Amino acid sequence: MARDAEAMGQGRVLVVAATHGNERNAPWLLEQWQRQPQMLQNAGLELQLAIGNPEAFAANRRYIDRDLNRCFTPALLSDPRHQELEVERARALLAAYGPQGRDACAVALDLHSTTSAMGNSLVVYGRRPADLALAAGIQARLGLPVYLHEADAAQTGFLVERWPAGLVIEVGPVPQGLISATICRQTQLAVEAALDTLAAAAAGALRLPRELQVHRHQGSLDQPRDTAGRPRAAVHPRLQHRDWMPLEAGAPLFWSADGAVERFDPSAEPQAADARWPVFINEAAYGEKGIALSLCRRECWSCDSSWAAALSDLLQSAGPL
Ligand SMILES: [Zn+2]
Repeated sequence: MARDAEAMGQGRVLVVAATHGNERNAPWLLEQWQRQPQMLQNAGLELQLAIGNPEAFAANRRYIDRDLNRCFTPALLSDPRHQELEVERARALLAAYGPQGRDACAVALDLHSTTSAMGNSLVVYGRRPADLALAAGIQARLGLPVYLHEADAAQTGFLVERWPAGLVIEVGPVPQGLISATICRQTQLAVEAALDTLAAAAAGALRLPRELQVHRHQGSLDQPRDTAGRPRAAVHPRLQHRDWMPLEAGAPLFWSADGAVERFDPSAEPQAADARWPVFINEAAYGEKGIALSLCRRECWSCDSSWAAALSDLLQSAGPL
């Protein structure tokens, strides 16, 4: 299969780590792969390995000026008044590895970790057919849950959206700044499943499962705050680490120091009915974004044969390496 893929001249695959500089597992792995390429099963694909935000990585901070993974909006990228470090870095990554870049890549895999108990999971932005094919191929191989992020005007500008196809591999729980063997192992398994899926697509041989299960983003809840914006309640211990597990009406959400409990009321939510699968519960980096958890609907979609064709076309038309 690998030889077939090469013969067809498939596009390169960009693998990015440390888009957030305090997520240390993927960049540590990436450095191992750079030293010993045989440690990563690349399925015969040509890879470009990149540290997303080297300055933030060196400082062990999520970002320096602003969140790199919210800088990839066309408006921000094209506005010369924006000279923040991360906006410049976004431009540099596109100039190097973007679809028209010096080392153009057709697909981007962006590797993250989270303090939430997301396990080994995928984040897909919107409904591009090639992305859905990639997610379905990985889910068929490893059974990973998929968080479909769309239609949230408060959260835009994600890196993978500027490549013709791509997704985020999100693994947790792990504290910021910490390297965990378990998290590294899960990350590597997901990357290899993604590369195996892409190689099959490049060879025109990707078979998708009948269905793709997605958790479709409906909205986010912030923790209760006082008038100065300080949290006046914490995520309830019975909610902590229960990502992907559906909330029942009345389930505890937040706990105050005086013992008061705020409970889940599905009818009070502005989101669509049945938005009760929580993700990114108590993610440390989202406090500043006013997100204590996000709520999803679980949906099963029939896989369309056009998805695999879109991914194959993309990889096969990317031109000679
Ligand atoms: Zn991240």
